[in-house]
Amino acid sequence: MAGTTTRNRQFGLTLLALYAFLILLPVIMAALQGREPRPWRNDLASGLAMAGFAMLLAEFLLSGRSRWLSRRIGMDVIMRFHQFMGHVLLAFLLLHPFLYNLPMNVQPYGELDGATWLSLPMAPGITGLLAWVGLGVLVFFAVARDSLPFRYETWRFWHGFGALLIALLGLHHTLEVGRYSQQDWLGGFWIIAVALAVLALAHVHLFTPLRERRRPFRVAGVERVADRTWSLVMEPDRDGGHDGRPLPYEAGQFAWLKMGGPLFRITEHPFSISSSPDQWPRVEFTIKEAGDFTGGLDRIPSGTRAYLDGPYGSFLLDESERPLVMIAGGVGMAPIMSLLRQLRAQGSKRRILLLQANRHAGQILYREELAAMARELEHLTVHYMLGEPPEGWDGLTGVPRTEVLATLIPEAARGESLCYVCGPPAMIHAVESSLVRELGVPAAQVISERFQYSFGARSGSAGRALLAFSVTTAVIVAGVFLFAFR
Ligand SMILES: Cc1cc2nc3c(=O)[nH]c(=O)nc-3n(C[C@H](O)[C@H](O)[C@H](O)COP(=O)(O)OP(=O)(O)OC[C@H]3O[C@@H](n4cnc5c(N)ncnc54)[C@H](O)[C@@H]3O)c2cc1C
Repeated sequence: MAGTTTRNRQFGLTLLALYAFLILLPVIMAALQGREPRPWRNDLASGLAMAGFAMLLAEFLLSGRSRWLSRRIGMDVIMRFHQFMGHVLLAFLLLHPFLYNLPMNVQPYGELDGATWLSLPMAPGITGLLAWVGLGVLVFFAVARDSLPFRYETWRFWHGFGALLIALLGLHHTLEVGRYSQQDWLGGFWIIAVALAVLALAHVHLFTPLRERRRPFRVAGVERVADRTWSLVMEPDRDGGHDGRPLPYEAGQFAWLKMGGPLFRITEHPFSISSSPDQWPRVEFTIKEAGDFTGGLDRIPSGTRAYLDGPYGSFLLDESERPLVMIAGGVGMAPIMSLLRQLRAQGSKRRILLLQANRHAGQILYREELAAMARELEHLTVHYMLGEPPEGWDGLTGVPRTEVLATLIPEAARGESLCYVCGPPAMIHAVESSLVRELGVPAAQVISERFQYSFGARSGSAGRALLAFSVTTAVIVAGVFLFAFR
């Protein structure tokens, strides 16, 4: 895995370079037009707008759900990059009109002739203004999403539809009044880029559902496995037309689940698959109650039609014999259970240490199955940890922190062990930090799965790398604008 992780890092860096090239491409194309330089503020305003608009269109590709990409760099990394670049492009595009008009070049109100808006012809002036305001609203609603009184699905619909509208308004504005975009090549670039953005949206909401329709699933059973936690088992719906071809997932991956109702509706939820591929045709999810969908699982009748979009994710086992450390918090046990079931199916001889942490005993997952597994896999050791232990509890207590991890993972094993971490964002962050900073486990050997994509969810080394990349890109882009046009 370390080799794989290094390869994935190189792949990630190549992608970042490609991304930077793509968002700079319109600026470079504009610079190559060799037009008369204008006051630097005007060219900076054009450059910011072009790079910002290119970033906006790239956002559609980033959220366009590529299984291939998510397997290599992880969906959480992609989505956090999407969110971070949303902030960067907002800054670029919000600055754009100010650089032209304020505080210089403002035309006195009385001199406008009625056919203009912000000193621009009326129609592109209005489309530009609508796109500009719309973008601010879109990003505000994305950042404040969890504190607003909307259902996640309502937000998601308006986020996609709103972004599309902004892209189309922005395209009109750019083609009509963009100084450099009047030229055929750059105009053509924008039309192709918007078409690709529309295709990425159609990929998620149209082409993928059409593909899923050929492989329907049905609910085989719902069973309570711990406090407020359910096992939801699916099987291919042969009567509904499923051809029986296995879902091509690897242990540790996840799928978007769409339950009942019309195929094209927007309601779907990502869940890690907790069964292992060898258990096909059984596909199991382990789900904790969190809101309206997950809170109603017990009311889902067997036989209910379901669709799975997947597999996605990079929480994967390698093929080496290196020792494994698995740390699960609560329902973070789901993808780890899939890895363990896979290792059991392989009769693995690897040294495996599992730490399952919960608040109270009623939340412990798969205790009996883990005990049976520990008898089959001679090198598997299972530890349970409770934050609020009952009287007489003989397991670990507290939360997974440096001291306990230091006792469980011998110093000699730290350099070679691969550590899989899944649980609440705060736990993942604390464990990653303990492993890497305090215990000296190489960062490339810590593999985490996050159930939350919000940028606020602490992001560890991948997050820091993204932050560094984004700031560097912003500085390079600003530098190109300021100097390429001089
Ligand atoms: C990669 C991944 C794997 C996951 N695996 C598991 C798992 O194995 N077991 C488990 O219990 N939970 C898992 N989750 C979390 C699970 O998706 C949410 O708890 C669930 O969607 C909540 O839906 P709800 O309608 O009950 O709650 P809501 O009240 O609708 O949502 C609660 C929160 O869940 C998140 N959420 C809701 N819908 C979506 C969506 N379509 N896409 C992304 N986030 C969403 C949002 O942050 C939202 O604020 C996973 C999440 C991700 C991203």
